[in-house]
Amino acid sequence: MKLSRLLFTLTLISLLVAPVASAIAEELVVYSARKEHLIKPLFEAYTKETGVKIKYVTDKAGPLLQRLKSEGANTKADLLLTVDAGNLWHAANEGLLQPLNSQVLEANVPAELRDPKGQWFGLSKRCRTIVYSTERVKPADLTTYEALGDAKWKGKLLLRTSKKVYNQSLVAMLIATYGEKKAEAIVKSWVANLGAKPFSNDTKTMKGILAGQGDVAVVNTYYFGRLLKKNPDLKLALFWPNQDSTGVHVNVSGGGVVKASKNKEAAIAFLEWLASDKAQNLFADANMEYPVNPKVKAHKFVEAWGSFRAMDTNLARAGELQTDAIKLMDRAGYR
Ligand code: FE
Repeated sequence: MKLSRLLFTLTLISLLVAPVASAIAEELVVYSARKEHLIKPLFEAYTKETGVKIKYVTDKAGPLLQRLKSEGANTKADLLLTVDAGNLWHAANEGLLQPLNSQVLEANVPAELRDPKGQWFGLSKRCRTIVYSTERVKPADLTTYEALGDAKWKGKLLLRTSKKVYNQSLVAMLIATYGEKKAEAIVKSWVANLGAKPFSNDTKTMKGILAGQGDVAVVNTYYFGRLLKKNPDLKLALFWPNQDSTGVHVNVSGGGVVKASKNKEAAIAFLEWLASDKAQNLFADANMEYPVNPKVKAHKFVEAWGSFRAMDTNLARAGELQTDAIKLMDRAGYR
């Protein structure tokens, strides 16, 4: 090819490519209820790879949703990242997110861990499972969430407060599985077995077991991981319940594209990247969670807790049934 012809071809290519490149935003704004130290390394990695800069605001889920609502069409936010399907569902239900059509997200995020309407997608998994004292309980003593209401656990069960969305989602999924009547009987039987008033967080709940206030509890796996990392001789272990029936309650942290985003294409590209093989370990490992992408393995430290069967009901149910769950817990005397 002659030089002049080559130059002509290159000019033509750059003319064709230029409009596409300029349509991709150079900066995205993320509102994140996921903590700064967990997301900053991801944002930096994305900027390094693509040149797209990421500005972010971190706060609790409630205030962030409130802020998105009041900013309305004027918001600068392109993406919302938050924990718990209950919160993601709320954001979608308030009309703050937009439905996406992305084959990449559909391939990388299992159907039960994303909104059937495509408004939010799980990006990491956390299991709300049973933790027990290795000094006073044998795994053979345990079977299911509902069996924590058996008389043998009288005064030995510890729970976190019902005010926390994690427990609201857990009870919502019990309603989805068993119906309201049976779910209420289960929660009542738990309350009857409490060894102490519900704790304000999962870590305190586990420390309650170590202090002898109870023998078993229900917590998110990464809180167990944090304690284990500090103390490898921790006298606690995880148990995977309901393996012959419904499976372990798995929740997610995840995200969606803000309805008023002016950078939709770039926001989708970033979400797709977060669910990709190369970003999933960065996303999950930082908080000792599980990748949602089935092609990606959990960190060795997390994998050592064993494999399990997970519940396959769509997590949108945790949002849809949240109000019912809150009322049910109140009726059952779970504070
Ligand atoms: Fe948490």
